[in-house]
Amino acid sequence: MDIDLARAWVQAITVAVGQHKDHLTQLDSAIGDADHGTNLDRGFTAAAAAVSDLNPDTVGAVLIKTGTTLISAIGGASGPLYGGAFRALGQALDTPAAEPLAFAGALAAGLESIQKLGTAVPGDKTMIDAYAPAVAAFEEQARQGTGFAAAAEAAADAAEEGMRGTTPLQARKGRASYLGARSVGHQDPGATSTALIFRALADTAA
Ligand code: ADP
Ligand code: MG
Ligand code: MG
Repeated sequence: MDIDLARAWVQAITVAVGQHKDHLTQLDSAIGDADHGTNLDRGFTAAAAAVSDLNPDTVGAVLIKTGTTLISAIGGASGPLYGGAFRALGQALDTPAAEPLAFAGALAAGLESIQKLGTAVPGDKTMIDAYAPAVAAFEEQARQGTGFAAAAEAAADAAEEGMRGTTPLQARKGRASYLGARSVGHQDPGATSTALIFRALADTAA
């Protein structure tokens, strides 16, 4: 991961979120308040603009700017959760480039940030159900020394599997938890956007 890849990643997320905006909102209309697509579209559009104006010295500067912008541009739960995660990721990457293992450690810091703020654990039907397996897959590949692109590909596959796995779960955190058993049978919007974020990383790194 270097500065150009970090910037290209944020731009690729913005494109993917724009393309899947209606789908994300549709998923959120089933078990939430029908704003996840518009929330993320607004947030990442602002973040992509902010990082394109930036002259960063480190990978971290790009990701911290992304996180700060998401926090200020998104009103919903996903703003502080994703914003805090990108800031934690950036704070762990205070260098012009990062090796896969360092990036794995930064992803883990992002996960820790989401869990500290939102107190969700795996199985609660949240973005954690896609994010946690993605971090584990990235780290495993990084340890095996397979390179950044292969690690990102494995992370994206794991995130998508985790995303699909949210459908039978009952939500225990966030708005969907208000529905109790009626949240079962719907794919979680945040897990779906997390899968887009990791797929965008894999596509950018390929
Ligand atoms: P809001 O629920 O405020 O409208 P969004 O619709 O943008 O916010 O985001 C909803 C998503 O946020 C959910 O699908 C879920 O994945 C995630 N989420 C909500 N609460 C939590 C939490 N406490 N921990 C982790 N993720 C959460
Ligand atoms: Mg919502
Ligand atoms: Mg909302």
